Amino acid sequence: MGERISIPEYAMALAQVASLRSEDPYRKVGAAALDADNRVIGTAYNGLAPGFDPPPGFWDDRDGRQKFMLHAEINLCSLFRRGEARIVATTTMPCTSCMQTLCSYGIKEIYYNEIYRESDAPEIADLYGIKLERVECFPLSEFSPVLSGRVVSAVE
Ligand SMILES: [Zn+2]
Repeated sequence: MGERISIPEYAMALAQVASLRSEDPYRKVGAAALDADNRVIGTAYNGLAPGFDPPPGFWDDRDGRQKFMLHAEINLCSLFRRGEARIVATTTMPCTSCMQTLCSYGIKEIYYNEIYRESDAPEIADLYGIKLERVECFPLSEFSPVLSGRVVSAVE
């Protein structure tokens, strides 16, 4: 029998798998939410608004596309109501705006893999008493877009 994986590792593996569904060729981010009993509420990834079909050439503009991308954490929060999720795992540390949104949804523990230096998430977590922790090792890490070399960097 193998060792049983921890809840943060479990959540991170789910987030990593979700990131594989991202349609953004430059930045693939996945996220997973668990409730107070560690049951999976859902997973999400960054992308365009549901049902939106981008015009030809849309993905050619690497900078221009950014403002249209809905972040994985925002898409994740559309799956539950405030207080329903306790744990969120994201493949990349939430940006400042997503961290604020996760706070507003009452998330108590946030796990991430990739560091995002421009984010104020650590400061926000400190102030509000939210656990923000890096998970470096997780199952299925060979499928990570960054670790497997399919994407040079998930952060830009
Ligand atoms: Zn964000």
